[in-house]
Amino acid sequence: MNSRATLFALAAAFAVTASAALAAPAPFVFAESGRAKAAVVVAEDAGPGAEFAVQELVDYLNKMTGARFPVATSPLKGWNTIYVGRPLSGDDRYEAFRIQASEDGRTLDLAGNDERGNAYAVYDLLETLGCGFWSPDNETVPFETNLVLSAGYEKSDAPAFSFRNNDEPFGDFAMVLKLRANTNRHRRDIQTRLDGMGGDAYESISHSLGNCQWVKSSVFFDAHPDWYALVEITDTNAWNKILRESSRYCGTNGIPTNLKGNWVRLRYIPCTMAQGMRDQLVKEVGDFLAANYPVHKSVSISTPDSSDYCHCAACRKLVDSDESRTSAVLYIDLINYVAKSLLPKYPKAHFNLLSYGAAYTPPKDAKRFKMGPGTGVAFAHHWRNHGVPINCCERFMPRFLGWRDVCDRFLFWEYYTNFHIYVNPFPNTDIFGPAFKFYLDNKFDGGFCQMTNSRLTPFADLNWWVKNRLMWNPNADAMALVDQYIEGAYGPAAPHVRRYLDIVLHAKRRQRWAWIGDYVDDTGNYLQPGDVLEIMRAMQKALASISKDPNIGRRIDVRRLAFSINHLGAMRYPDLIEPAKAERFRLAPWQEYSDGWKSTALDYLNSDEYMGARQLYGENDGSGLKGFFRYLDMLKETAETPTAWPERKLLSRVVAPAEMTGSPVRFAVTNDASGAPFSSLTYGWGGGEPKFMSPNWCEAGFTVTNDLEGVWYLFSNVSVDTTATNDPAAAYTGIYSPWYVGNFRVPNKRAEICSMRIARTKGDEGWRLACLGKWGLRPGARVWVMPGVVNETRNLGVRNFTLLSPEVFEKDVTLPGGIGSRHVSAAIRACEGAVEQKRDEIDRYFYAELDCLSTNGPGAINAPIAQSKDLSAFATGEKYVFARVRVSASDVLVGDAARVRLVQPAKAKGEEPERVIVDIPVGGSYGADSWQIISLGRVALEPGMVLGVVANDPATAAVALRDFVLVSPEFLETSVKAQ
Ligand SMILES: [Zn+2]
Repeated sequence: MNSRATLFALAAAFAVTASAALAAPAPFVFAESGRAKAAVVVAEDAGPGAEFAVQELVDYLNKMTGARFPVATSPLKGWNTIYVGRPLSGDDRYEAFRIQASEDGRTLDLAGNDERGNAYAVYDLLETLGCGFWSPDNETVPFETNLVLSAGYEKSDAPAFSFRNNDEPFGDFAMVLKLRANTNRHRRDIQTRLDGMGGDAYESISHSLGNCQWVKSSVFFDAHPDWYALVEITDTNAWNKILRESSRYCGTNGIPTNLKGNWVRLRYIPCTMAQGMRDQLVKEVGDFLAANYPVHKSVSISTPDSSDYCHCAACRKLVDSDESRTSAVLYIDLINYVAKSLLPKYPKAHFNLLSYGAAYTPPKDAKRFKMGPGTGVAFAHHWRNHGVPINCCERFMPRFLGWRDVCDRFLFWEYYTNFHIYVNPFPNTDIFGPAFKFYLDNKFDGGFCQMTNSRLTPFADLNWWVKNRLMWNPNADAMALVDQYIEGAYGPAAPHVRRYLDIVLHAKRRQRWAWIGDYVDDTGNYLQPGDVLEIMRAMQKALASISKDPNIGRRIDVRRLAFSINHLGAMRYPDLIEPAKAERFRLAPWQEYSDGWKSTALDYLNSDEYMGARQLYGENDGSGLKGFFRYLDMLKETAETPTAWPERKLLSRVVAPAEMTGSPVRFAVTNDASGAPFSSLTYGWGGGEPKFMSPNWCEAGFTVTNDLEGVWYLFSNVSVDTTATNDPAAAYTGIYSPWYVGNFRVPNKRAEICSMRIARTKGDEGWRLACLGKWGLRPGARVWVMPGVVNETRNLGVRNFTLLSPEVFEKDVTLPGGIGSRHVSAAIRACEGAVEQKRDEIDRYFYAELDCLSTNGPGAINAPIAQSKDLSAFATGEKYVFARVRVSASDVLVGDAARVRLVQPAKAKGEEPERVIVDIPVGGSYGADSWQIISLGRVALEPGMVLGVVANDPATAAVALRDFVLVSPEFLETSVKAQ
């Protein structure tokens, strides 16, 4: 049932219960046979919100009915009355609105709080009547000459978040309110109009100190160098350079004479303890509030875009006084000082600290560094997988919990795109729902979502719309909103657009550890060639389906989405050649995609849409036209038709420690007690070692050489010792891949395409295989292992990496000498509990799923080895065993959500009890229910044994098993030639 039908049904129910004693209920009639029956009534001195709402209401009602609706300041005799902008009684919720039709059908009252509520009421009514506002140039407005609303219809609503920033590039004032947003950071002209409707919704959370907004160094540095950060330069070259050239970033005046070593003042970083700086800050913020309060009540007291901080004696003393030694204490102390100084005069003022850069890590001593009244923290968190909700990030959650101890008001600054390349499909539409629920549950006041600036980003309009709906009501069914949008916006093309979105989200879920970064050169790698071909097919159908659609906006929207055909065709051509042949897909000549890319891009460049050239690139690469022409150059470089991947000469390849390299100082190849070599990383958390991952700091791995180029399943054999009882990320393993446009390798560009957490429990230092999944490895790609950063770990070792051909891992193969691989699926009859067989409709395979929320007990998915003679014969002796599983959880970061096991069942009549031979935990996280490959290690199999998977935590919602893969040890321990 769509939302419109639901509302009508609810309204009808109201009519029955509320009006039994009254006269026969009558619907509210707007128009009859194309003639208006209702007049819009608004007070003469109505505010800007009511006035705007009336204009919009009349315009749309006229369009919908062909009638002309009169506007008056009091009811007109003989007409029904639509009141707009009367005070909303009995509901003082921020921005609340109410729509109420009288039982007798004579009046309809549209009322809202805070002026904007009036506009929300009007748009809500219009949507109830069948309108859809998908984008400024794509709306659906039904034509209905007899327009009515059910008798006694009533709806009231209010937003969950008070700050709902609308950061999209439309530059359309009405669209902000149609999306139920209340602020617009990018457009000053729009923000000024919004301010006129009660602008106190805006929360300032940007960088503000240094030279951004307050106590600007461009004004004060020369006279007061001591207001800016004092830091020591330990690098001699850097010091000599500073002495040689006058630096934009630092100066050497105002250095205390008693300091030894080379010190400078950083112009763009404040000394937060300098009393003069504090006085000036309070003065400037006080002046701002005096001029703008209460329309603007929010002030940001935040770091510049940097992690640097002042090392003067006073600042260092404060930083060192907390066990965490976080520089955030400098800003907590400062914001408390400002709030304390100004709150008495401006009691409703908000002082926000952006937790970012130098204010990233919370302090340990929550009592001493409690943030005072009037203050709040806004979270920005780049370093995570943006394909899963923010609370699934093992680095974000401890950080959030730490801040929650010192503060009780929160805002978010979300990143919902890849800022390095906007035109790739970015698979995050399904994470908004869980993310906003997290923000709601933790009482955030709202926030700002930094999204793409380009309407050439696939699903950009959809994401803006869904995101804004959820900021109003995070409890709404996010994927139902997605369906509503696609059906409304795309009409006949909807099934094909939905198919495109399904492929993108499915591809992300195919491999749990695909890295969906927000600042990487190319996030397209999670799509496999078959996905790209399927997207091309879907978009060809979409284009055909709307070629004659009367809605021009819709036709443009579909064409914009079909840019993907050219983009993916141009970028991924070498990947597509062989799969297209196999699937009999007519791949166009290379030139068609690259020419199509250029012509669409040029059309965009010449359009007057907001952001101009930045329509095509990320915010850093796309400053002006430079990025655009760089892209064109890359397409020129690869002008010859690209070639397919080279043929593979090996079925497996082991990369031994002797072939590995690593970070200077901390990497060495050494031998264990048995004399076997391994790559060892030595590091420590004491002595100022950084707690971030960097190849320059601590890394071991190998660089892919020409002979290893190809598509492989990739395994790393790792041992790590953690100090935490349950460490979700004792180490990480992943891949940095060069960026290719067709066959052209873009110089100096590498993208992280895969990053896998390695979970360990304390005391478990055993060697274990981690499977990164299936990836195309290009020459120059770096496959790496690095220590974890959430908890202290020690002794990270890498025994080897193994590359295994998909042929061996995905198919049953048998080579001379009996080595090979086999697949063991679940036998539904042997399973326990609510286990069902299901089918993956995109990759076309069957899997077994255990529904853990069903009442049929805990359950287990079992895959007995002795399902066939061939399997029994193969599964005798030592094999490597892998499970292809998926775990859905109702909570985030459940470390032990399920277990994959190898069991020797009980022998008959009390001879031998059941014996669990292998038992490996599998993690799950709400919103990140993707397929994972779990290694059970090298085990001695017997035909009577049973492989299986069981749920292991009350928060586990479902467990799915595709199959177990058995592989002869030869493949994982030696290099095997192709036959
Ligand atoms: Zn200082």
